[in-house]
Amino acid sequence: MPVYVYEHTGDPGKDCEKEIEIHQEFGSDHLEKCPKCKRKVRRIIKSANFTVDHLAPTALKEKGFTKLVRRDKGVYEIEGAARDMKKPGT
Ligand SMILES: [Zn+2]
Repeated sequence: MPVYVYEHTGDPGKDCEKEIEIHQEFGSDHLEKCPKCKRKVRRIIKSANFTVDHLAPTALKEKGFTKLVRRDKGVYEIEGAARDMKKPGT
């Protein structure tokens, strides 16, 4: 089951974190209330695989960027050259 992250739109209940993770069946309705404290929540999109830090070098190149990493004093190399074989997140 996918895990969705919700955050309380106001103050969370005293037993709640500001953000809560909820297992829901794929395609089920978004929650509007926290199951614990019944306060309002909204779903937030969070994906660890989709942050700018992990943007694949190939994707950057498509956008016309080349991401350079400072490797040593005055030495730069194109990030990803050594990582191409390894997909992020695996
Ligand atoms: Zn709550």
